[in-house]
Amino acid sequence: MAAIRNVLTRLSSSLGLPRAFTQSPRSALTTLLYHRFVSPGGQVDAARERLHRQLDWLQQRYTTLSPVGAVSHIERGTLPPFSLVVTSDDAGTDLLDIWDVFHEHGVPLAVFPCVGWVESSSPLTDSPTLSRVIDLVRWYAGPERSVDLGKNWSFLLNPNSVDRTIDHIIGASQAGGEDYLAAAWDVLSAIPREADDPRSDCNWGELADLCRRGVLIGSHTVTHCRLAGCSDLRLNFELRESKRAIEARLAPCETFAYPFGTADAVSHRTTAAIIEAGYRCAFLTRQDFAPNHADIHCLPRITIPDDNMVDFDLFRSLVLGGHIPWQKIKGMALSGFYRCEETVLIASFLGEFAA
Ligand SMILES: [Zn+2]
Repeated sequence: MAAIRNVLTRLSSSLGLPRAFTQSPRSALTTLLYHRFVSPGGQVDAARERLHRQLDWLQQRYTTLSPVGAVSHIERGTLPPFSLVVTSDDAGTDLLDIWDVFHEHGVPLAVFPCVGWVESSSPLTDSPTLSRVIDLVRWYAGPERSVDLGKNWSFLLNPNSVDRTIDHIIGASQAGGEDYLAAAWDVLSAIPREADDPRSDCNWGELADLCRRGVLIGSHTVTHCRLAGCSDLRLNFELRESKRAIEARLAPCETFAYPFGTADAVSHRTTAAIIEAGYRCAFLTRQDFAPNHADIHCLPRITIPDDNMVDFDLFRSLVLGGHIPWQKIKGMALSGFYRCEETVLIASFLGEFAA
């Protein structure tokens, strides 16, 4: 499937097809989204070489910006030609092997770690935080069990009803404070779970090092959840607690990247909550470029597949939007090909393409 998609992406880019489906990258912001630069067990030297070549090409063609710099231009309608922002989600430890390649090329890199994963990867030096406790619940994969913390504090641990349990714990911790968190940590941390071996997410110390070296750190929630499906309580926790933790440990956190940033993860309610929590902008995983005056709380990105999945020609085709026509056609088909509005939309796209 990936092979067919890659052929279509190259073909579409070389035929100039993206022009029929979106604006030119000359007059819009291109935001790249990386996940893994070096896959577990992958070759670090080869990954660094690949990245050098990619950044050489980007530097010759694009004006690289920080996310906040780019959104200021979008709001004013003053995007420089070929504007580019580079982002990376999930903060894998492979960042430590490649951050200096960005530094060397003078290309700003914005990283979006998931705070629960960072907490769980860091040594416990203080009393456990709510994020740390909730991370244990979020990824619990064992059989259903009842957890009794004493003092009438109890809840059910069940992989199928995690969201309800997390809502309960957020509410109970507000009333029970540190005593509640300490009791929950004692019980939950004693439950055996599959070890993440070797550790794959950056911890606070490593992110602090990256931050000192100029890498920008934004939020990617606490538990890597689908925000649109969350209760109001959880939505505010995910947005505010991740921001608070990053600001307490690292630096001001003004940018947000949606986990699963597709259309079903986003709603008017999530956008309002992101603005209310004090974020300047938010990124999706929808494949597109963002023109001047775009909605800065729903910014599309271009996904770059993990390290050795992408050769240089495919990289170039992706950056130039080769994947966008297929994503848009698929999106229209999934949202109801036979419905009247979509048929009109397709007709107008085809018309534009034919013109
Ligand atoms: Zn993610």
